[in-house]
Amino acid sequence: MRVNAYAALGPAQAVVPWSYEINDVQPHEVLVRVLACGICHSDVHMIDNDWGFSRYPLVPGHEIVGVVESVGAHVQTLQTGQRVGIGWQRSACGHCEDCLRGQDHLCDESTGVITHGYGGFASHVAVDARYCFPLPESLPTESAGPLLCGGITVYSALRAAGMGSGLRIGVVGLGGLGHLAIQFASRMGNHVTAFTTTEAKAYEASKLGAHDAILIRDGRPVRRPPRPLHIVLNTVPAPTPTDVYLDLLGSDGVLCYVGAPTTPLSVPLWPLLVKRRRIMGSPIGSRATIIEMLENAAAFGVRPMVETYPLARVNDALERVRRNVVRYRAVLLA
Ligand code: NAP
Ligand code: ZN
Repeated sequence: MRVNAYAALGPAQAVVPWSYEINDVQPHEVLVRVLACGICHSDVHMIDNDWGFSRYPLVPGHEIVGVVESVGAHVQTLQTGQRVGIGWQRSACGHCEDCLRGQDHLCDESTGVITHGYGGFASHVAVDARYCFPLPESLPTESAGPLLCGGITVYSALRAAGMGSGLRIGVVGLGGLGHLAIQFASRMGNHVTAFTTTEAKAYEASKLGAHDAILIRDGRPVRRPPRPLHIVLNTVPAPTPTDVYLDLLGSDGVLCYVGAPTTPLSVPLWPLLVKRRRIMGSPIGSRATIIEMLENAAAFGVRPMVETYPLARVNDALERVRRNVVRYRAVLLA
């Protein structure tokens, strides 16, 4: 079958109509008709080849909600007509140490929806059935997609950084990822401080569940939170000063990066050493954590706030992401 898509044909270019053929759905794959697809800042990094491994034509889109249209011969867990979500990951080896301990998102052989194939700015997508997740009914089609990359990334990172309840958690950057981090952290019983460069978002942050919001001016928060933080989650796609956020952490505090600029971190050792603080990074999340995250999103009322666009207006939506004016995630509708 012919898949109608939008693709970037070279670095930093607008996406244009482009099509490709899916001849056979592989035995372990499912073919999904796309209903909605969020625009993650990673799509922008990939279009621009910021990370140096983009392949063109590049069909972006890895926050997909769709309907299973056909299933491969070996697929037993999904049925035609089922509503599913698909995120960044396309497959994993299934037998390495990371896969065997349920950390398949850390697998060396892991492949991505848009890095090793064509993504969701399209009529259809075919992926490994293990990376298609049935969606809880209460999650609406047009706003569930951002959970599959943005949501799982912040949920998994916060869990890995030690999030339970009763902690003081800072979230830097209130975009697609950040607005979901605030919701997960606050709804699961933590005290949340939002750090934003956008004045209007500082006023809106309480609607997302933040207990405090602090403006960033000239790269620095204009004031300190009243008490030291246990975790700071940095979601910013551009370089930010490390020392400033380390300094807001208490003893054993964790500074966790999910935002993915390419410039190396410059880290002073002393603030780590004297307070036993740690710095970590975290990619997406495992299959098991995706299922847990979707259940908790449904149970705790975590809802991506989205602006929707018809797929034909994809370049307008991308432009708004680049200008940082989206509240809080742009979603393309079929
Ligand atoms: P986004 O929706 O564009 O939001 C990023 C936010 O960062 C902006 O809304 C803005 O918030 C803040 N910001 C501060 N300075 C900025 C600058 N110079 N340029 C752009 N934004 C700036 O992005 P996203 O989709 O949340 O993704 C954020 C980052 O996470 C990207 O680097 C993306 O590639 C990465 N990511 C990583 C993973 C992973 O697995 N680790 C998964 C998904 C995405 P304020 O207006 O509040 O300041
Ligand atoms: Zn993403």
